[in-house]
Amino acid sequence: MQNTDVTIVGGGSAGLTLALLLARQNLRVVLVEKGPPPVETGTSPAYQRVSALNMASRYLFEHLGIWQPLLASAAAYTDMQVWEADSFARIGFSATEQQLEALGYICDNEHIRQLLHRQLQQCSNVSCYFDVAITQLKQGERDVMLQLDNSELILSRLLVGADGVNSFVRQHMQLPLTHWDYQHTAIVAKIRCTLPHQLTARQVFLADGPLALLPLPEPDVCSIVWSAETDQASRLLALDDNAFTQALCAASQAVLGPVELVSERQAFGLTMRYASCWQRGRVVLVADAAHSIHPLAGQGMNLGLMDVAALAQLIGAQHEAGDDIAATAMLRRYERWRKAEAQSMIVAMEAFKRGFGARPAPLKLLRGAGLVAVDKLPWLKHYLMAHALGLKGDLPALVKKPLPDTDTLACG
Ligand SMILES: Cc1cc2nc3c(=O)[nH]c(=O)nc-3n(C[C@H](O)[C@H](O)[C@H](O)COP(=O)(O)OP(=O)(O)OC[C@H]3O[C@@H](n4cnc5c(N)ncnc54)[C@H](O)[C@@H]3O)c2cc1C
Repeated sequence: MQNTDVTIVGGGSAGLTLALLLARQNLRVVLVEKGPPPVETGTSPAYQRVSALNMASRYLFEHLGIWQPLLASAAAYTDMQVWEADSFARIGFSATEQQLEALGYICDNEHIRQLLHRQLQQCSNVSCYFDVAITQLKQGERDVMLQLDNSELILSRLLVGADGVNSFVRQHMQLPLTHWDYQHTAIVAKIRCTLPHQLTARQVFLADGPLALLPLPEPDVCSIVWSAETDQASRLLALDDNAFTQALCAASQAVLGPVELVSERQAFGLTMRYASCWQRGRVVLVADAAHSIHPLAGQGMNLGLMDVAALAQLIGAQHEAGDDIAATAMLRRYERWRKAEAQSMIVAMEAFKRGFGARPAPLKLLRGAGLVAVDKLPWLKHYLMAHALGLKGDLPALVKKPLPDTDTLACG
């Protein structure tokens, strides 16, 4: 039997980041993941699944000492173009205009996991179990018991569900969930383009969903996220590579010239999920286990990383004061804090999706006029961008820019 302070279920970006944050506050941590350990990607990962990280996530990874190796395999995009396919609606953002070096970073998801895992391996106060299944989860007054199929029994003071959209922990604890189907499927793939992407992230709103072209480090390679109504997505997935790339080129209005597929196509059904209660007793949820949103603004992982930075900050304060690290008042404070952010993101995604999905001509005209007007208002663009970059709002301390001589956090 193993006694520990915190058990984390799920070794995705959120679970691994939380494990490292807690380990570096001298807490004993066990991480349980049903899949294999992260794949060794080196500096040229496959970019099969990528995420656009914002400044807040960058600062968090700087504090954790994984930013420099991550940046070496990331594309720092300096411009962003958003437009509607069949109207004059268009808006552009640039890093220069915002006085920043980049608007965001396209990073390989598996490389993020690998770098976090490598750091965790250096922490003597962390045990990671991969390829294991949970056979029992029981909550007592003073601890939570987890039994694994490798016959390991773990007792912890706090258990965190970081186990993604179909969270076992959320279901087992019967934490109520609100959800609706976006009726969109996202097709993800890597493409080679004829024209250079010039480190510009592009998103075109088509009649049945957005298509994002995200620049990767090679100057002519992009990752696409093409969200379409489910029937249309099935038709696109059924096309052969040649017909698919022709459809893609037409949909993107050949903004990067003719394109070629250089990876498999992967499909993701999109559902909004929001747990109306994030904690019960000594169990708490973070990231996609608590909320999942449409990927059109590329904010899901950023939101989850902010959750774990907030939770680690509150747990750390309790631990330092010698108080219970699973105190209900503290877990409720975390829940209120992060729910406010998650809710506003869900509302914003819905407004975007419905706003751009509206087809009647007067609405399209209004939308076009609105975007063109915003494009001419630098202060409003600055305000919108500061939110997207994660630089506004009630931020955890560890997602703020580190001071020049700040040491990275070290393990206990
Ligand atoms: C198409 C698409 C594009 C996206 N693009 C972006 C983007 O550009 N920017 C952005 O910020 N976000 C983006 N997102 C969202 C982002 O990918 C997720 O929000 C993020 O990966 C969630 O991380 P997580 O750690 O919470 O969950 P996950 O990454 O899903 O990790 C959960 C882990 O828990 C494990 N697990 C599950 N059940 C169990 C169990 N019973 N026991 C043990 N382990 C378990 C799983 O194996 C998994 O490793 C995108 C999402 C999609 C679908």
